[in-house]
Amino acid sequence: MLFEKALSQLKTYFGYDSFRQGQEQTIRHILEGHNTACIMPTGGGKSICYQIPSLLLEGTTIVISPLISLMKDQVDALNEAGISATYINSSLTSSEVEERLEEVSLGVYKLLYIAPERLESPFFFEQLKSLPIPLIAVDEAHCISQWGHDFRPSYLRISSLISELPSKPIVVGLTATATPQVREDICTALQIQEQNTVMTGFERSNLSFTVVKGQDRLSYIDEYVKKNEQEAGIIYAATRQEVDSLHEHLQSLGIQVGKYHAGMSASSRDHEQNRFLQDDVTLMVATSAFGMGIDKSNIRFVIHYQLPKNMESYYQEAGRAGRDGLPSECIVLYSAQDIRIQRFLIEQSTNHSGKLVQDLEKLQQMVNYCHTEECLQAYILHYFGEEEAHACGRCSNCTDTRTAVDVTVDTQKVLSCMIRMGERFGKTMIAQVLTGSKNKKILDFRFDQLSTYGVMSKQSLKEVSEFIEFLISEQYILVGQGSFPTLSVAAKGKGVLLGEEKVMRKEQIQVNQLVQDDELF
Ligand code: ADP
Repeated sequence: MLFEKALSQLKTYFGYDSFRQGQEQTIRHILEGHNTACIMPTGGGKSICYQIPSLLLEGTTIVISPLISLMKDQVDALNEAGISATYINSSLTSSEVEERLEEVSLGVYKLLYIAPERLESPFFFEQLKSLPIPLIAVDEAHCISQWGHDFRPSYLRISSLISELPSKPIVVGLTATATPQVREDICTALQIQEQNTVMTGFERSNLSFTVVKGQDRLSYIDEYVKKNEQEAGIIYAATRQEVDSLHEHLQSLGIQVGKYHAGMSASSRDHEQNRFLQDDVTLMVATSAFGMGIDKSNIRFVIHYQLPKNMESYYQEAGRAGRDGLPSECIVLYSAQDIRIQRFLIEQSTNHSGKLVQDLEKLQQMVNYCHTEECLQAYILHYFGEEEAHACGRCSNCTDTRTAVDVTVDTQKVLSCMIRMGERFGKTMIAQVLTGSKNKKILDFRFDQLSTYGVMSKQSLKEVSEFIEFLISEQYILVGQGSFPTLSVAAKGKGVLLGEEKVMRKEQIQVNQLVQDDELF
């Protein structure tokens, strides 16, 4: 039977004894001739799901991938394993392209990697029409979805082009993005039936997640990097300038560090990437431009120096840690002002109002991740649609030994203040009223006349703002849509105002409180 051959190919070409979760099922669907969706976390082993069928089916499998810079590495690795593969992309001269096409038409290759735009070249497409193509693998298939985090217009045209191919290939879409909407878009675009969607659990039991709040980020990094000098790790920053300055800072401490962002030339990016892949440097500072498709198995930590823009990007980037299955850390260094940077970047990147609202909502869910007291792994799994997620026991929330205190009264203060202000304002204004700020805007609105004015004046503006973030993350408060989100009381919050629900929060230890405690001894 064809599938038994799949297992022996796994051993022969890749040296593995058994399939991982989801691989066998995906390969079975493909070999039975069904269009298939394969949704697995980064590092789950998606490539094998189309590489093995390509060996078992007659003809050349086409792999569509947006990752031009990695095609060469992927093809080299296949050739090394004894599988004939090649790529055609913009890095080749036209005579090289012709030569490869000639070889492809002679049936030399089992796999041909191309970028989606290549399909739109009439000359290339004509050639494809005359080939026996049993399978088309659409890698990073979430790029098909306009609501995904990485939409590429050329991905939208893939399916109509595929339907024009006389060989009527089977299509497999592969991605690590599992939100229900993206999944649905992939299945609609690539004509995949629900029963042919393979989705593995998204839990990565070797990763421990941490959110660090209220600490100086630079000194945290200094200390962490020194402690983990021997280990491979990536630090992600939100902007090119941040990458440059962090890189410079680490170098000034004598730390060997690479850097990567889209503002660098292609050759220096390649150079830096290779240094990291070959362990010439263990540490990389980069924007999110770095890492897609990179197969480096021994990354022990991924730190986000700034808040990522959404949970999809976060889990994809963080998931680059620990592909070898060994314990690894994923850390977000949270600072409230980063929300503004991400907001700005989102507003710059889209002029589609529906998309803007959606992206801002995704950002809010990322902020909520930083404020929740739930297990962080469980939060991630819930986000990706897994209903049953148990507490991981490893993340910074699960290992937090602080006791939970009753903050119902403070919650009532915040919520009733919001109602008195007409539920038309954002977090900062609300926190200012609660702490009794004499800000001109507060006085102009006569909010100093409200009975809730200054009722939390014993706390700082920052503490109250963080408390509001906590109430948002626990869904007592709703965030409105748009660039200047106003806050309103959620149904769960109304229960608190009516005294029907109690709110518990981990005791907040403030730095000045620690100092005072020390003075007692
Ligand atoms: P993804 O594309 O899902 O991010 P890859 O296809 O790059 O993941 O695979 C990640 C790593 O897992 C690779 O190093 C790959 O060789 C390894 N791998 C894949 N399948 C298996 C398997 N059945 N057994 C052991 N290791 C595997």
